[in-house]
Amino acid sequence: MSGYIKDVLESLEERNPGEKEFLAAAKEALDSIGLIIDDHPDHRKSAILERLVEPERIITFRAPWVDDDGKPHVNRGWRVQFSSALGPYKGGLRFHPSVTQSVLKFLGFEQTFKNSLTGLSLGGAKGGADFDPKGRSDDEIRRFCESFMDELHRHIGPDRDIPAGDIGVGSREIGYLFGRYRRLRNEFTGTLTGKGLAWGGSPLRTEATGYGVVYFAAAMLSDSGKSLEGMRCIVSGSGNVAVYTAEKLIDMGARPITLSDSGGFIFEPDGLTREKLDWIKELKFERRGRISEYADEFSSAKYTKAPKEGANPLWQVEADGVFPCATQNELDERGARDLVKAGVKLVVEGANMPATHEAVEVFREKKIAFAPGKASNAGGVAVSGLEMSQNSMRLTWTEEEVEGRLRAIIERVHKSCLDMADVCGQCNDYAHGANIAGYLRVAAAMKAQGAW
Ligand code: NDP
Repeated sequence: MSGYIKDVLESLEERNPGEKEFLAAAKEALDSIGLIIDDHPDHRKSAILERLVEPERIITFRAPWVDDDGKPHVNRGWRVQFSSALGPYKGGLRFHPSVTQSVLKFLGFEQTFKNSLTGLSLGGAKGGADFDPKGRSDDEIRRFCESFMDELHRHIGPDRDIPAGDIGVGSREIGYLFGRYRRLRNEFTGTLTGKGLAWGGSPLRTEATGYGVVYFAAAMLSDSGKSLEGMRCIVSGSGNVAVYTAEKLIDMGARPITLSDSGGFIFEPDGLTREKLDWIKELKFERRGRISEYADEFSSAKYTKAPKEGANPLWQVEADGVFPCATQNELDERGARDLVKAGVKLVVEGANMPATHEAVEVFREKKIAFAPGKASNAGGVAVSGLEMSQNSMRLTWTEEEVEGRLRAIIERVHKSCLDMADVCGQCNDYAHGANIAGYLRVAAAMKAQGAW
């Protein structure tokens, strides 16, 4: 690592004590940027890197609400507006008790690189609250969303900042948030994405992240004359990204053999079918049940509880491909070694940074093809970008048109990662390629705009 990169990281640690998620994400990106920084002395002179690791703005606010028994609760909300060099701030909202400022800074930083890779005019942001939606009634969720928007609406807008969903924020929450925004502002604009089809949403936004992940995997395989056909795939998570990753895997002839939630995972030895996946969609998105219920319904499947600590048996399932689609840091070094032992040849991230730095190093060392989420899950934000375009034009494209554009964007992201990896002498290393390609576009825009 160059002395300059080391200095930037040391100063970042001093200024952001204890923010381990954000510091890990910054280190991961700066490790790659270090490979090319000496070719860009002007970046160093203008302190582009030092500026890029500092969010442009962080908004923190109180989000009080009252539960169904009349008991008041107070949560904390945030919006981290990381970078607007390439376009208006864009990134999801996460409602989960594990949300902290560090987590949202990590996600906003990642989002800046991801949005850059799409080639669209989108800046990077992330937001959310430490609110736990689990077990809450629809009315409680609505009251929380309305309270959250009562403050957030001051800071967003169709040309300023356009939030979307993430963990704990799906179509129901986007509906409540948009409804409140519309009433507060007396305007119907494309300020949020992930809206319902009847009220400004885009075809395929719901499916886009998962479908894009699988297109990315197909592009990786096709470079070596292979395809997804017949591949046994571990998928983790059972939310939006996981379910639509599994769906597209089935459509492309692969066999998703697992899904999980925080309680454990189900193993379906012959692979999930479209019918079984429809049952899971109803379980997860309508009844909001647990994945263990799948094994009660289908005797072909086995359910394994998540361990409190130690090795996760999910990563010991024999498979050809792995799609971690639940949350950050779910796949550690031990899990990576177990996957290598189980014969895995391809790892494609659906979630944001589900593999730890140590896990990625194992894949590098063992020459396992690895795609980082900032490239492989860019399909979600890409279709959000397409939703913004449709909203501005006041029209709706067909599903075929959106799917064609999504696939073209993902293939472009894939190519720019590979090309950039080649240029910097890191042949086939998608992680370095994604970081450098993402960085160079943002850095060029910052320089051109007076280095701000
Ligand atoms: P959902 O809320 O729809 O689903 C999240 C899934 O992950 C659930 O199955 C959940 O299980 C599981 N999960 C969450 N936290 C944990 C945990 N600590 N341990 C184990 N399992 C956990 O979220 P999404 O599918 O939208 O998002 C998943 C990932 O994909 C996130 O990293 C997100 O940032 C990323 N992403 C999402 C995009 C989108 O368009 N939605 C776009 C790009 C990236 P449980 O119900 O038990 O909590």
